Amino acid sequence: MMAMRIPFVAANFKMFKTAGETFAYVQELRELVSRVADVEIVVAPPFLALPSAVDAAGGSRIGIAAQDLHWEREGAFTGEVSAAMIKDAGAGYVLIGHSERRRLFGETGEVVHKKLMAALGADLTAIVCIGETLDERDGNRTTEVLDRQLDEALAGLTAPQAAGLVVAYEPVWAIGTGRNATPEQAGDAHAHIRGWLRERFTPGAAEQCHILYGGSVKPDNIRELMALPDVDGALVGGASLRAQSFFDIITGCRR
Ligand code: PEP
Repeated sequence: MMAMRIPFVAANFKMFKTAGETFAYVQELRELVSRVADVEIVVAPPFLALPSAVDAAGGSRIGIAAQDLHWEREGAFTGEVSAAMIKDAGAGYVLIGHSERRRLFGETGEVVHKKLMAALGADLTAIVCIGETLDERDGNRTTEVLDRQLDEALAGLTAPQAAGLVVAYEPVWAIGTGRNATPEQAGDAHAHIRGWLRERFTPGAAEQCHILYGGSVKPDNIRELMALPDVDGALVGGASLRAQSFFDIITGCRR
């Protein structure tokens, strides 16, 4: 079946950039991408910078994402932000289950699932992150871990919901380390995820779902990754923090 997906590339700022810095970045990026029509581009700043990012991106093709959400609409959850609040701020996307949230903040598969349902309920496009640790890879448990994380996160989804999802495959050992999965490792994991989606949902839903690679993506390795048939784009941390470097990755994503 022919792929129906246009490349998708997302910048994860993590806990970097103030509102003002984010505004300047998105203004610079929108100039740079003004002639790019064939890539879906998303920027995920910290919560407090969402309104500035939305303002700076207004009328451009840059989408804005939150980096996390709480699964309840509102309530006594000090420090949390709901899907409805993110939507109200003008963002259209949200990252869910990033490995830093799982590892540093104890996010379980059940929590990831609840967050995904909340995002879908608020009509946000979810970017669901999965990936194995180095121990799990060395123990030949990569596919088992991916299956478990997909089972937990995507339980009960319909095929149309799955079709609209973005799944980010991010081997934990490659995030922020400068280490990359080899094309063979990335290709195998992406093909496995596509196969899981095909089996669990429908071939059509699996074809529409975007599967991104994340883990030390840079302007000089994006082309090699995009040459793999099931890699539809990238989730980029460190190398997205300068607009020019993120733009170079966007350019490298074009088919
Ligand atoms: C990430 O934050 O999702 C990520 C992949 O980071 P880096 O590109 O810095 O490895």
